[in-house]
Amino acid sequence: MQKVTILGATGSIGQSTIDVILRHPDMFKVFALTANRNIDLLLQQAQLCQPEYVVVSDPKLLLHVKDVFSKNALNCEVLAGCDALEQVSSDAEVDVVMAAIVGAAGLLPTLAAAKAGKKVLLANKESLVMSGDLFIQTANKNNAQLLPIDSEHNAIFQCLPTDFTYGDLEGSGISNIILTGSGGPFLSTPLDELQHMGPEQACAHPNWNMGRKISVDSATMMNKGLEFIEARWLFGLQSKDIQVVLHPQSIIHSMVQYVDGSVLAQMGNPDMRTPIAHALAYPQRIQSGVAALDFKKLADFSFTEPSQARYPNLELAIQASNAGQYATTSLNAANEVSVAKFLNGEIGFTQIAEANDECLQQISSHKLTSVDDVIACDQQARAVTCNIIKRIKTTGMVGAKNV
Ligand code: NDP
Repeated sequence: MQKVTILGATGSIGQSTIDVILRHPDMFKVFALTANRNIDLLLQQAQLCQPEYVVVSDPKLLLHVKDVFSKNALNCEVLAGCDALEQVSSDAEVDVVMAAIVGAAGLLPTLAAAKAGKKVLLANKESLVMSGDLFIQTANKNNAQLLPIDSEHNAIFQCLPTDFTYGDLEGSGISNIILTGSGGPFLSTPLDELQHMGPEQACAHPNWNMGRKISVDSATMMNKGLEFIEARWLFGLQSKDIQVVLHPQSIIHSMVQYVDGSVLAQMGNPDMRTPIAHALAYPQRIQSGVAALDFKKLADFSFTEPSQARYPNLELAIQASNAGQYATTSLNAANEVSVAKFLNGEIGFTQIAEANDECLQQISSHKLTSVDDVIACDQQARAVTCNIIKRIKTTGMVGAKNV
């Protein structure tokens, strides 16, 4: 029986994780569930899973949540705040931590799980984007097992040889990694109409049902950019090792190309319960609740190159990954700010990439060697981006282009 903490339980990945876990009561027991503000769903989940702890991130909600839980006769311990998130990630009783908080808020609790040597199921790609080297070193030093949840990285992991050595593509006879992406809801929207696209259209992903932030990132392809950076850290790759290919059907989740001409692809219906079940049970295989792929019903598969004009954020992320840690941390922070402002109706869709680009130009190169450095860099980029967006809102003006 493995005890599981689910960080971000009330989100899209968190809910899918609970769905898989409840199919296997003989294998998994929920230790802790965490949420930001969705107390109603947290309560329902606690009634179903009977965890030992629930945590809300905002300490101001503690008394209210305690009250709600005691009125509903739930006797799990209720905690609040960042320290509590770290506590349930690193508790000695926990075997597995699903890191599914969205954004930079996931960094410290996910790092705490790595530091405590847990089996870390990594959905929160932002942790690696923000603190790549530090995160990998922490995981290695403490014998944490890092298993990718992002469907692309999970696919790559499944297509790599089991004895793959970090960073050594040549030693395994691999020529390159092919990261697939659907292109999102605006794949064929005329370029001059992109500026008029609003939050609801951006969040209407054709294949995946996800949280709002990652949905917008899929529409701009910043998500693929963050995944590009994530793949470099997870597998020790260089930029030249990764090719990004558009595959609008989202059936092939990524591929590994070998020097003998073989290409291994991992396929499946677009449902996150597959990578979640794979990582939860690894190296075993368990039922996930996902329907089997019916090849007789599949339409054509297609593959194209993403256009830089349509997806400037993808190129920005690749440039940042080549520039270094300060640049990926800054880009992630800038993007969190600009996406939040877009979702709030304060800036237009195409202004997300414009603000991100300008932020990257304003942050000068510097070394990040500690978590404090990472957090300071994140904060600086957020402040810079807020100022850029303030100016965009008052003057409509965007600074010089980078790409
Ligand atoms: P959601 O927005 O659906 O859920 C986010 C979760 O994080 C919720 O539980 C939310 O709580 C919690 N949360 C939000 N802000 C904070 C905060 N400041 N402190 C603590 N907890 C917080 O996101 P997704 O499930 O879509 O994505 C989660 C992560 O997984 C992201 O990093 C994303 O990139 C990654 N991912 C997601 C995929 C998907 O299919 N959804 C696919 C691959 C990766 P509350 O509900 O109370 O607001």
